[in-house]
Amino acid sequence: ESVNLSQLLQTTVASFEKAYQRKVELSCPQELHLITDEQKLKQLLYIFMDNARKYSEEQIKVNVEKAGNHAAIHVVDRGIGMSQNDLEKVFDRFYQVDESRTEGYGLGLSLAEELAHALKADIHLFSEKGAGTTAMIRLLLSEDSHFQ
Ligand code: ATP
Repeated sequence: ESVNLSQLLQTTVASFEKAYQRKVELSCPQELHLITDEQKLKQLLYIFMDNARKYSEEQIKVNVEKAGNHAAIHVVDRGIGMSQNDLEKVFDRFYQVDESRTEGYGLGLSLAEELAHALKADIHLFSEKGAGTTAMIRLLLSEDSHFQ
């Protein structure tokens, strides 16, 4: 099913802002299309935005870049961040850096990995302790995106 990525991001961000009363700055400079499972992509975005919300206080940013025939979506927070050592473990089921700091169970990122696999998307986390975290989702675009 062909999905308008710009539109999907707008609706996902809008429902997130409403649910959590948190402002998200969205930047998607052009219309991009891809063949994907809309529901799974929304769930994946939600996991990263939810973590950005839980582990930061400042405004969350979501931006999209087109690189060749791929789109890279970045979910950026300026929150507590993680050490490189923790970054290697956070995709493990039930792993949490600081159990007292979270309301969850350490499941979000292991689910994100499964969703990314199903979507044939690459995901990657960049983080610096005390500075913040960026989650990246890289997806193959469909042909009609390349002419816009
Ligand atoms: P949930 O089960 O609700 O997802 P969770 O947030 O603890 O709970 P994960 O999403 O799997 O579980 O994240 C695992 C751990 O990685 C978190 O407990 C947290 O320590 C760390 N983490 C994830 N995202 C961030 C982030 N954006 N900033 C700082 N730490 C993060």
